[in-house]
Amino acid sequence: MKFQTYKECGGTYSIGTFQHHFGGWKKAVKKIGLKDGHRTRTDEELFSEIQRLWEMFGRQPETREMKRDGSISLNVFQRRFGSWMKAIHAFCRDREKEPDEEVEVSEDIGRPSESLKVDEPQAIQEKMDTADEPESIIMTTPRFPSPRLRFKVLKRDKFTCVKCGRNPTNEYGVKLNVDHIKPYSKGGETIIENLQTLCQKCNVGKGDLIL
Ligand SMILES: [Zn+2]
Repeated sequence: MKFQTYKECGGTYSIGTFQHHFGGWKKAVKKIGLKDGHRTRTDEELFSEIQRLWEMFGRQPETREMKRDGSISLNVFQRRFGSWMKAIHAFCRDREKEPDEEVEVSEDIGRPSESLKVDEPQAIQEKMDTADEPESIIMTTPRFPSPRLRFKVLKRDKFTCVKCGRNPTNEYGVKLNVDHIKPYSKGGETIIENLQTLCQKCNVGKGDLIL
């Protein structure tokens, strides 16, 4: 991969930055492992990016929004799927599958809803502690919903906070969280029936109540 290509892809670091950190562009390419010019992204990485924008707008993102707010070039989607429309179609088909079908859990998509909760590290610790104790509650689902499950919950709730009714479609910048109705730490499973859409504000408020 040439530095010029990197810039055309939307890379923002200067050649000097690579010089400084790796001793030069070619060394950086070698070290990062950008074989044949670019690392191939998985379909799930591309879907996660569509989902991130979809959640941001509370609806299907358009090409101009992808160009403006996307962190992956529109060309990548067009090359992989044929067009943006086909990418959207492939995304919807994927998200309609059962949540527990094989899918990579993305750190970006799967976690932020829970990251504000104060009890998180403790809950994870509890889970680790109870691993060897058969008599304690054994959870059958992971703490964080898969991207598919998360999308199903948001879709069911029409990308709208179930408490205050705010949504990103009417109010730009409203951030949606997927929340456990019965907390995971209290035995609430990560299943669609126990999950709800909350805006960040309501979710933080809920966290305060628990304290
Ligand atoms: Zn709300």
